[in-house]
Amino acid sequence: MGELLRVAAPVGSCIAAFAALVVTILVWRRSRLTARLEVVRSLHAELISDSAAKARHTLGSLHWQNREINPDGTERGEVMCAYFAMLWRFEQLHAGRKVLLEEANGRRDVALKMLDEQVYTHVAEYVCTFPGIKEKLTESNRDDAVFDGAYVKTFDQLRASLADSFDDPEKKARLGAHTNNTEKCNCKCHEVSAKPPLPPQRPHGASV
Ligand SMILES: [Zn+2]
Ligand SMILES: [Zn+2]
Repeated sequence: MGELLRVAAPVGSCIAAFAALVVTILVWRRSRLTARLEVVRSLHAELISDSAAKARHTLGSLHWQNREINPDGTERGEVMCAYFAMLWRFEQLHAGRKVLLEEANGRRDVALKMLDEQVYTHVAEYVCTFPGIKEKLTESNRDDAVFDGAYVKTFDQLRASLADSFDDPEKKARLGAHTNNTEKCNCKCHEVSAKPPLPPQRPHGASV
């Protein structure tokens, strides 16, 4: 009996220590996932904030109506602001997504899958919106170039990384690199006939 107790005591301690370790790992995993989901929530929130919705409306109206920008008045400045504001939002999304990916050693865990599903439509829409708006900005004033190189590159990295994450061929196609060949671009905006600019908008209170 004494012999049995002498052997059983250390085994019992080992089992207790192992159980404690398992519990610690489970708690750590849960709190890690909670933290990752909170990052996902804040990254997505930035894309659907009131200011993002305003910028999206400014760019989306021009994009979907295929309308030119009036170089006189305030419109061109507003479009330029909205264009860069959206590029910076996607830059922030790309940085946050990269950290989440690296932290999980490139594995798409629950948090990453949730983020990718939430941002897919936003990114896919801007694959055509960004080059389309840039063209309109350039055409409306050739003396005022749009210096967006690094931000456009970052958006393209985000687009490509997201495309890699999906198996669905439709999603992959919508996240494909934008092409100037409108027959290959999936966006319906290319079927809309071009419209002239709206009358110039003046700053509030300015005389015509
Ligand atoms: Zn397009
Ligand atoms: Zn389009």
